[in-house]
Amino acid sequence: MLIPAQGQMLIGTRIAIGIPKGTYARIAPRSGLAYKESIGISGGVIDADYTGEVKVIMMNYGKKNYQVQEGDRIAQMIIEKIDTSGMMEVDNLRITNRGHKGFGSTDLWPKQTIAVEQVQPIMCQLYANSRENRLFSESDIRRNPWLLQEEVMVSSAMISKALLQEYKPELLKEVQNVSRDDMDWLAREATLKDLITRGKELLTNWQYKNGFSYFKNGLYIPANDVLKTKKAKGCHDSKVAGHFGMEKTIETITRDFYWKGLTEWINDYVRSCDECQHNKSPRHARWGLLQPLETPCAAWNSISTDFITQLPESQGYTQIMVVVDQFTKMAHFIGLPTNATAKDVANVFLREVWKLHGLPTESYLSWMQNSQGNFGNPYASC
Ligand SMILES: [Zn+2]
Repeated sequence: MLIPAQGQMLIGTRIAIGIPKGTYARIAPRSGLAYKESIGISGGVIDADYTGEVKVIMMNYGKKNYQVQEGDRIAQMIIEKIDTSGMMEVDNLRITNRGHKGFGSTDLWPKQTIAVEQVQPIMCQLYANSRENRLFSESDIRRNPWLLQEEVMVSSAMISKALLQEYKPELLKEVQNVSRDDMDWLAREATLKDLITRGKELLTNWQYKNGFSYFKNGLYIPANDVLKTKKAKGCHDSKVAGHFGMEKTIETITRDFYWKGLTEWINDYVRSCDECQHNKSPRHARWGLLQPLETPCAAWNSISTDFITQLPESQGYTQIMVVVDQFTKMAHFIGLPTNATAKDVANVFLREVWKLHGLPTESYLSWMQNSQGNFGNPYASC
């Protein structure tokens, strides 16, 4: 293919690529080609979701035509990460030295090198007694305290990221005491400790500090209902908490705590809260009215079957199948062994009921399963 002087051409490469999300591929010129032949590459960006053929726009800035042959190295591809983190719309941009000044203006200002350092934010509080006030001037503490060190000031974004939790020593002691009975808690501690001693990376979202495990910055509470109830009370029952629903209670609790099966546990707790039940109106549709059975018109037309199970053994039987006629209230009591199957039930029904009264038009079955799960619908297999 011939790219005319001062012209351009779209060249197919017969290559298709798939690149990871959050990246894009940039088609860049080759320096040799650019220098020797004045060949540039334009508009070459391939998005992660494009899987078609990679095509390259070649620009010939030179004064003579350029011949492209199959197998020629014409461009290079660079995979780059896309950083869209923290982008937001603002009314004003921060003020810089250069501002809106155009080309050539950068040299007018002395060159500056900005060193960026990751500083652990320090939280400072002003104490009523002046002993702890390392960071504040105490000269006029009542009216006008000011920071002694400018550099400890942190942005609100950093404050929100900083770990503010401090657990009471009594709570930590309690956690330590009850943790001895929780095998899961101890196993988790052992795993984390082991990872630390081997210098390995901890499990995602887990931390281990001074004998306590933390999940997503929440203290891992052992399986102890007294302790859990205490924490749940604070986040649901107290005047400050105000009997929030399940989701909000879970959100508040997980700010500081974590335990195994927390969601389920809190849901149960909120559902069974006495005050909530008294004061909160139900949000579901009304339960319907009870539907009474129709009065049958003849004897043994409509029957009900029920089972009395887990009885002490008598003549090899541990269960009683009770078949009652809805019209006369006459009943048959039929003994069944523990491991009776649906087939056995059907057989005794045939022998004890059907033989005497014929097949009923209606049959109500108390849907109960014994430990073997044998009684589903015994007639299903008839
Ligand atoms: Zn409540």
